[in-house]
Amino acid sequence: MSHVITLIPGDGIGPEVTESVIRIFKAAALDIEWERHDAGITAFKRVNQSLPVDLLESIRRNKVALKGPVTTPIAEGFTSVNVGLRKALNLYANLRPVRNLAGVPSRFEGVDLIIVRENTEDLYSGLEHEVVPGVVESLKIITEKASTRIAEFAFEHARQNGRKRVTAIHKANIMKLGDGLFLESCRAVSRNHLDIPYDERIVDAACMHLVMHPEKFDVLVLPNLYGDIVSDLCAGLVGGLGVVPGANLGKESAVFEAVHGSAPDIAGKNMANPTALLLSALMMLDHIGERQRAERIRAALGRVLAEGRIRTRDLDGDASTTDFTDAICREVEK
Ligand code: ATP
Repeated sequence: MSHVITLIPGDGIGPEVTESVIRIFKAAALDIEWERHDAGITAFKRVNQSLPVDLLESIRRNKVALKGPVTTPIAEGFTSVNVGLRKALNLYANLRPVRNLAGVPSRFEGVDLIIVRENTEDLYSGLEHEVVPGVVESLKIITEKASTRIAEFAFEHARQNGRKRVTAIHKANIMKLGDGLFLESCRAVSRNHLDIPYDERIVDAACMHLVMHPEKFDVLVLPNLYGDIVSDLCAGLVGGLGVVPGANLGKESAVFEAVHGSAPDIAGKNMANPTALLLSALMMLDHIGERQRAERIRAALGRVLAEGRIRTRDLDGDASTTDFTDAICREVEK
């Protein structure tokens, strides 16, 4: 079966890790026509827009995109492309499975978490203004609609995937109205899913428990900002940002991307670990019904990692992105 998929190579390490995925997909004989689009600084330089209209049209048409990281300028410049894309396409659920991979050095064994991050509001609403010189107000928007929608997503995901528990993460002791509404919405949804145990943790305590006993957590549902922070923390539990995938899911379309950013410190050095984007791309293959090929590539990746001879530097190896990609291609072709 052939597929047309939008591809955003991104910047920083983005082009290197997307190229790696494309090569591995070719080795698996996947019939994919990639519609390439730029975004962020590269698009801004070309068409004076960081999120070009033709990119959004391409994703709306194809319903599926694979996205490399796109740098967001810090404290100045255009607004985040990542946030803009999620809002424009209403990709309200950010799903990030965090698991140990055999052969990947990590602090813990037995970690198997699902992070469900609300993707459209909270402090990411981008509503900020200077009240008077020296005083800035950043608005944290929490709505019952978005909170209920993400809680329903978390419980449905738990049910469909045989998960054991859903934990809502919040700071409702301080933000009694905003996080209070998030929590109340989660509770209401939990009452319609009595077969799935539900509990709650305050975000700071949750972080402590996660770094002490990650195996005690299962599905986490979080507002946008806590979801961002806790995702990186959880990536650290299983070997770092190089190995954790993600999907941004909406009713109409889906954009698959790694948890990591553009990693400018290692960009262009052929050092990046493509595993996180590859695992995201495998989630994409499952999503479009290419489960068999996804499994084949997953097994090939698993063999290369478990064998441990060819590993990128973030995993204490010395292999380049290209060497690691070659090794997976060889395994896929076997
Ligand atoms: P953002 O705020 O854009 O999401 P981030 O805070 O997640 O970015 P990254 O740019 O992802 O930060 O990178 C943090 C560090 O993690 C990098 O400096 C790099 O050393 C490491 N890192 C991230 N992704 C990878 C990867 N795929 N392979 C190897 N190292 C990586």
